[in-house]
Amino acid sequence: MKKAIYPGSFDPLTLGHMDIIERSSKIVDELVIGVLNNSAKSSLFSLEERVTMIKEMTHYIPNVTVGSFDGLLVDYMKEIDATIIIRGLRAVTDFEYELQIAQTNHVENPNVETVFLTTSLQYSYLSSTIVKEFASHGGDISKFVPAVFINRIYERYGITQSKK
Ligand code: ADP
Repeated sequence: MKKAIYPGSFDPLTLGHMDIIERSSKIVDELVIGVLNNSAKSSLFSLEERVTMIKEMTHYIPNVTVGSFDGLLVDYMKEIDATIIIRGLRAVTDFEYELQIAQTNHVENPNVETVFLTTSLQYSYLSSTIVKEFASHGGDISKFVPAVFINRIYERYGITQSKK
């Protein structure tokens, strides 16, 4: 039984995240999307909102569930009995940080392995930060996030669809 976790902030969930979720759910038995509760970072959507949004978008994938954690990922993994970490790699800029984290997690718990999925070409530029930057200026985010989130994201910036 291969149980994996795909951890991240998902603030908000993007089409790049969805791509990694769909692809990784096919290579493991169970996939838990672990939403990070990072109290040091102010987020656009609360932890509960992010969890709900991801559930909304993934309910059609039978082996995917959504959870949340704070503190160390390896501790949460013990709690839920997962041994594989899924991460997405977009560019070389992701690589150094991801390698360091993966190695640290492996030292913390040698049973834990990190699996990297390379981003699909059409999402290689995409990040939650880019989505927020564009949305805050009323930019078109329809190619970045699931359609049902578009208005919810604009609303956070006081932008109504009619103004667009
Ligand atoms: P974090 O704050 O941990 O970086 P994110 O929500 O930004 O959380 O990202 C979670 C994971 O999804 C990371 O592994 C990141 O590399 C990956 N990811 C983010 N955007 C994309 C994308 N466009 N294509 C592939 N992977 C992505």
